Amino acid sequence: MKTYRLINNLDIDITRAVCDMAALYGFAPNDASDFKLVFSKEGACVKAELLASEFAPLVFTDLLDDAREETSGEINRIVKLLTIAIFSKVTGFQPELSWGILTGVRPTKLVHKLMDEGAGEPLEYLQNKYLLHEENARLLCNIAKLQKSLLSDKKRFQEAGIYIGIPFCPSRCSYCSFPSGIIPRDEESQQNFLNLIEQDIENVVQLIGMRGIMPTSLYIGGGTPTSLADKPFARLMKMCSKYLNLPSIKEFTVEAGRPDCFSISKLHSMENAGVNRVSVNPQTFHDGTLKIIGRAHSVSDFYKAYELVRGSEIPIINMDLIIGLPGESERDIEFSLTEAKRLAPENLTVHTLTLKKSAPLFGSKMSLESQSASRMVARGMEIAKELGMVPYYLYRQHYMLGHLANIGYARPGMESVYNIQMMEERHPIIGIGPSSASKMPLADGHHLNKLSMPKNVQTYKDNLQSLFVKRRELFENIK
Ligand code: SF4
Repeated sequence: MKTYRLINNLDIDITRAVCDMAALYGFAPNDASDFKLVFSKEGACVKAELLASEFAPLVFTDLLDDAREETSGEINRIVKLLTIAIFSKVTGFQPELSWGILTGVRPTKLVHKLMDEGAGEPLEYLQNKYLLHEENARLLCNIAKLQKSLLSDKKRFQEAGIYIGIPFCPSRCSYCSFPSGIIPRDEESQQNFLNLIEQDIENVVQLIGMRGIMPTSLYIGGGTPTSLADKPFARLMKMCSKYLNLPSIKEFTVEAGRPDCFSISKLHSMENAGVNRVSVNPQTFHDGTLKIIGRAHSVSDFYKAYELVRGSEIPIINMDLIIGLPGESERDIEFSLTEAKRLAPENLTVHTLTLKKSAPLFGSKMSLESQSASRMVARGMEIAKELGMVPYYLYRQHYMLGHLANIGYARPGMESVYNIQMMEERHPIIGIGPSSASKMPLADGHHLNKLSMPKNVQTYKDNLQSLFVKRRELFENIK
């Protein structure tokens, strides 16, 4: 692989910005490289110089935007543009940049920020300053506008989301990078785990009373919460009814993603607790793929679980699909999308395969070319439209196939408020359980303080009381 050496004379860290852009040209950082990339500042400009034995020195400069001069975001933006200019010049290659220079996980946060700064709809700004293609710039603007209409900014420090993390699954999917473990088989261990969760919930109830927080959503995720056996799962639901049956909570979601651990008993427990949204996730409608990715259920198990929820009192079903699973062609994905359409869930989330370093499949060759993946993402959008849905949240990940995006669609009025709260980070999130994160946004609306619970259950248990103190401190200055 070709390499470069970064020499940063700026006051902020630009390593990630340069690395992300250089990777588009197949270049990786290496301190021994004689291909030196030097960044410095001259007045209101950022300067990039390329010094390499095989080229005459190359110099590019770009002016910081007046209104946003000196912010680290603005300097990083210019650094990315300059990196692209240099590598395009020396390689003669122009990469396809449908998302422009946006590489962050939460691109709509930028749109909210620009709107808060009075930019109105920043469609042209995204195209001109961040090089986004028009359709993606428009998509981000439409999502941000919809989110603003669904979640008022007025009470944004009080209207929190509560997340309970159950970090267990029945087996490990080979594409998974979440820190979940395999569920202990004996119910006693599961009950012991729930004893910790109960203490955690009680502490949160005290916290929201003390700080005047009004949670509007409750989300139980993981892992797979339904991997608990029937009795412990029923206990978890009863705990939610006992402690978190608050009038302000309008939305109660349970991730029941894996049909291999779904049951009628769990469905009844959810109905009794007032759950009004459930995720049942096929990921694909091909048995062969399910086997390859280590999910111990068949497509027919998925249909059974889906029909059970459909016949229940729970009104909203979310379905997740993944584009780019091993061995799948465009035709296979088209079939899965068509099946999703036939079943007509209220929410559909179309993911693009991401293989992080901690995923068992990391490093394996992708089955789908970027362009095919891109066509399928567009096809997912068409199917969602045919179902009367609109995109309402979006996120991207590093190592994502084709540098595309995960997009959540919903029928109007059925959007998940929790998904927006969690993704946009403009409202507090109170995390319960191992691996959960509590987030308190700062007054500027764009930064936050965060507390992550330990991933390891024993570490979580050993530090529970001190974690409660830290979480209380996190929400100390709530307005
Ligand atoms: S069900 Fe979800 S969290 Fe569990 S192993 Fe599979 S991808 Fe990971």
